[in-house]
Amino acid sequence: MESHPRNQTDQSKQIILVHGPIIIGAGPSGLATSACLSSRGVPSLILERSDSIASLWKSKTYDRLKLHLPKHFCRLPFLDFPENFPKYPSKNEFLAYLESYASHFRIVPRFKADVQNASFDSSSGFWRVKTLDNTEYLSKWLVVATGENADPCFPEIPGIKKFSGGKIVHASEYKSGEEFRRQKVLVVGCGNSGMEISLDLVRHNASPHLVVRNTVHVLPREILGLSTFGVGMTLLKCLPLRLVDKFLLLMANLSFGNTDRLGLRRPKTGPLELKNVTGKSPVLDVGAMALIRSGKIQIMEGVKEITENGAKFMDGQEKDFDSIIFATGYKSNVPAWLQGSDFFTEEGMPKTPFPNGWRGGKGLYTVGFTRRGLLGTASDAVKIAGEIGDQWRDDIMGPIRNMCSSHFVFFSNS
Ligand SMILES: Cc1cc2nc3c(=O)[nH]c(=O)nc-3n(C[C@H](O)[C@H](O)[C@H](O)COP(=O)(O)OP(=O)(O)OC[C@H]3O[C@@H](n4cnc5c(N)ncnc54)[C@H](O)[C@@H]3O)c2cc1C
Repeated sequence: MESHPRNQTDQSKQIILVHGPIIIGAGPSGLATSACLSSRGVPSLILERSDSIASLWKSKTYDRLKLHLPKHFCRLPFLDFPENFPKYPSKNEFLAYLESYASHFRIVPRFKADVQNASFDSSSGFWRVKTLDNTEYLSKWLVVATGENADPCFPEIPGIKKFSGGKIVHASEYKSGEEFRRQKVLVVGCGNSGMEISLDLVRHNASPHLVVRNTVHVLPREILGLSTFGVGMTLLKCLPLRLVDKFLLLMANLSFGNTDRLGLRRPKTGPLELKNVTGKSPVLDVGAMALIRSGKIQIMEGVKEITENGAKFMDGQEKDFDSIIFATGYKSNVPAWLQGSDFFTEEGMPKTPFPNGWRGGKGLYTVGFTRRGLLGTASDAVKIAGEIGDQWRDDIMGPIRNMCSSHFVFFSNS
């Protein structure tokens, strides 16, 4: 039930009163929340800046990407992955799942609706959300689903403008090693993306040099055919976290030996405890470790400076490179558009730690900001829909119908 705007306050500006919550972002988190709301009879409107759902997965990930975790840890509420999908679905399979999820729940986001500003109007009790096309959306509820990975992070490295070799790209622009064939490539950052991109480069006969500035936990993706993540989750039900960490590290040592000797120093804190405290995920190895051991991926210490033809490193080495890839992560973009709320940190993450960061007060909610991947998304979405569903049923349906005057246009997807 979508009505076209009839009233405008002036020639260019539209004001739209949304029937139900406004959700910003049509990634997995936005879709899951919309589906959970709809299961409680609550309509919603998703505003998405790009022209498709799951734009991160569609346009900003490399071709060889597969889900890092088994599919049953990545399902969204109410719909399983197809049984014939492999344990670790490919990027395209995950996208197909999300497309079918959206169509199953009849979710039709408003695309090319780039949110520039959102603020709470205390006099009316409504959230006012403005998009780039000069439309203002009003709702009692605002669900932030713009993701932990909204914008790429680039580190400040001296001399970066001097580099006159080939390409400088962020991992979000990297598709395949094909365009780096036979090149000597500097890969900065050794999280899951940096490791997998290095592996992909080797498979395309390129020579990656992987910069490891900080300590890192690398774990085998599987232990005796079982997902390491799944094993960790199961053990946590009956053992203390530190003991589970010890077990995971023992398994990692059996798989890789002492990674310090390869230039991959382990943090003093165990992998799960580190994840809990800092949100930093361990790297789940899908083949890069063997290439590091064989020297096909070379580990380098931190970069001191980028030069015209390559880089100088902290240990005094200097090397030439054809291209540089920054696998240096992403950041939230919430501070750029959410005004007047002290619920988020300067980095755009909820100040309230997990598991309570989904509720911000005054009708503000966040989904997908738990640093717990799609499991965190699913848990947030269910809680948000539960709370809004109760309010919708008890308080809102009556008054909002009365407010339906000719001054506003109602907009809804369901
Ligand atoms: C390479 C990679 C692999 C991953 N693999 C896994 C995995 O295997 N398992 C797992 O559980 N997790 C994984 N994750 C982590 C996480 O689950 C995914 O990043 C997931 O896509 C997060 O979903 P999301 O909807 O919260 O954010 P996103 O997918 O980033 O979606 C946010 C949406 O909001 C839109 N948006 C942003 N700003 C605005 C704005 N101002 N106005 C309107 N729209 C806006 C964006 O265009 C985007 O479509 C992975 C992450 C990455 C980067």
